[in-house]
Amino acid sequence: MNPLAVSLRQLEQDDAVTLQGDIDADQLQIESFDEVIEIAGPLRYELTAELHGDALLVMGDLGLPLKCTCVRCLRSFPYEVELEGWSSLTPLGGEEGLQIAGDWVDLTPLLRDDVVLAFPQHPLCEPECSGLPTPKPGGQFAPGTDSAGGESASQWAALDQLKL
Ligand SMILES: [Zn+2]
Repeated sequence: MNPLAVSLRQLEQDDAVTLQGDIDADQLQIESFDEVIEIAGPLRYELTAELHGDALLVMGDLGLPLKCTCVRCLRSFPYEVELEGWSSLTPLGGEEGLQIAGDWVDLTPLLRDDVVLAFPQHPLCEPECSGLPTPKPGGQFAPGTDSAGGESASQWAALDQLKL
C-alpha cells in the first residue's frame, strides 16, 4: 500500500490526517537528472493533510539526504534537502489537481515535484570553494589532495581552466 495516500473518507471524518515515516526515493520515483547529485537515502516526511473545500492542504516537514559533487573542486559531500514548514494547497481532481483513485488521494506527485525543485542547482562543497587544485604534471586532477596549495594554487587552477 502507498504510504503517501490519504483516504478522503477519513479526511471528511477527522479534521486532519497525519502521515509520518520515510519512503524510498525509488518508490517515490524521485530521480536526479543531474550527474552531480545522487540520492543518498529515503525521504523523511511528517505531514498533516486537511480538506479545504475542493482542495487539499498538506503541511509539514520533508527531508532527503543527497550526495553531491562540488561543481568547482569535484569533491563529493553530503547535502540535506530540508523543507521545514512546507505547505501546499492543491485542488482535488481535474487536470491540474491531485488524482483521486476510489477513496484515495496520492500525495506522491506533490512531494516529488517540490523536493526535486529544492535540489541545489550548482552544488558547492562550501560557498567559498576555491576550485580545483593545481593539475599534476601528468595532467590529471587530484581533487581533495591539494589542501596546502591555498590561494595561489587555486588562482593558477582558475587560469588553467581559462586556457582550456
Ligand atoms: Zn568544492
